[in-house]
Parts: sequence; C-alpha cells; structure tokens
Amino acid sequence: MALMITDECINCDVCEPECPNQAISMGPEIYVIDPARCTECVGHFDEPQCVQVCPVECIPVNPAHVESREQLWQKYLRLSGRAEQEGAAASAPKAP
Ligand code: SF4
Ligand code: SF4
Repeated sequence: MALMITDECINCDVCEPECPNQAISMGPEIYVIDPARCTECVGHFDEPQCVQVCPVECIPVNPAHVESREQLWQKYLRLSGRAEQEGAAASAPKAP
C-alpha cells in the first residue's frame, strides 16, 4: 500500500529528502505523498524511510491504495526504468 500523511503533520520537512522515489512534496497545507510514486520503499529500503524519520508518527498506510508487495515491486520497477530491462522475469523479493 502507498502511505499517506495525516493532518497531524507539523511540516518539519525531514521526510521529503529521505524519499527515494520523490513521492513526497509540500501540498496546500501539509506534506503529501503521491500514491503513484510511493512503493513503501520496496526496492530501496527494508523500512519506509519517511516513517523512520517522522517525529510525530503521522504516516500510516493509505487505505485507498491497497497494493501487494508484488504490486509495489512492479511500481518500483516502472519508476526506476528497470521494467523493460527485467521484463517478465522480474519478481518480488521474498517477504520477511
Ligand atoms: S514509504 Fe518510502 S517511497 Fe513511500 S513516501 Fe515514504 S519514503 Fe517515499
Ligand atoms: S516528517 Fe512527518 S511531520 Fe515532518 S513533514 Fe514529514 S510527515 Fe510532516
């Protein structure tokens, strides 16, 4: 699932530079996550980096964007331009 930022966000700016997919940007009032770019950090890190650094724990999963780990992996491949290279052979790493 993509993650989302709730209105508890205090606009501290620390999560934006940590996102490997450039999914986080400043919205009208608080930071927002583009669900089309958030892979829960699958493909880059074991844990969502924004969640790791957020001081107020306001980044839950987005219930409007339910995705399996395999779907997140495919999104990572598309975003990174590796989908064409790896083609159908690409598969997700095993879940922990
Ligand atoms: S979970 Fe990872 S990819 Fe998603 S917004 Fe946070 S840092 Fe970016
Ligand atoms: S780290 Fe948390 S509080 Fe800070 S800008 Fe990001 S979502 Fe908002």
